[in-house]
Amino acid sequence: MVLKSLKYTLKTALTTTEVTRLYPEVMMELPANERGIHELDATTCIGCGSCARVCPNSCIEMVPYKYGNPLKNRKMQFPQIDYGRCTFCGLCVDECPVSCLKMGKRTEIAGWDRKDIVYGPDRIAVKKFSDKEVAELEAEAKRQAEEKKKAAAAAAKEKAAKAKGKENKAKTKPSEGGEA
Ligand code: SF4
Ligand code: SF4
Repeated sequence: MVLKSLKYTLKTALTTTEVTRLYPEVMMELPANERGIHELDATTCIGCGSCARVCPNSCIEMVPYKYGNPLKNRKMQFPQIDYGRCTFCGLCVDECPVSCLKMGKRTEIAGWDRKDIVYGPDRIAVKKFSDKEVAELEAEAKRQAEEKKKAAAAAAKEKAAKAKGKENKAKTKPSEGGEA
């Protein structure tokens, strides 16, 4: 009986395919279209909030994040996802106008507290700018804003001058008409 069991053990150990794996060291291969934790490209996100608006479970909140592009995302707002509510439907990904949000392959979401499974942009961003790049972009955004301000002030001045010119013309017209 013992020999029979030993024979069976040896046979199955050497011939059968693997049925268990040493988790988490050996991870399961996921299907190509697996919907896991989102992946955000913070360098192209424009902060439009469409992902948050379309989410059927209201699990996306727009929050500030430093490592995006202030030239494209003026308010520097990025999605934060509450995985306690997310059903991984992918609607937010479909809705993104610049395709900067994707469903990733990471599937492990655990925490001791409810807030541990709320992932901010810092946890879902797979692409972001460095401190140096952010400083350069901020300087450029500031320069562009100042240029815009100057252009608006010049346009307002020109408009006021034109209005004043019209006013003066209107004032002189009746006397001209009287003399004729
Ligand atoms: S996958 Fe669906 S439920 Fe999850 S954040 Fe996106 S829209 Fe909301
Ligand atoms: S992830 Fe896409 S939809 Fe969401 S705020 Fe950024 S650009 Fe808009």
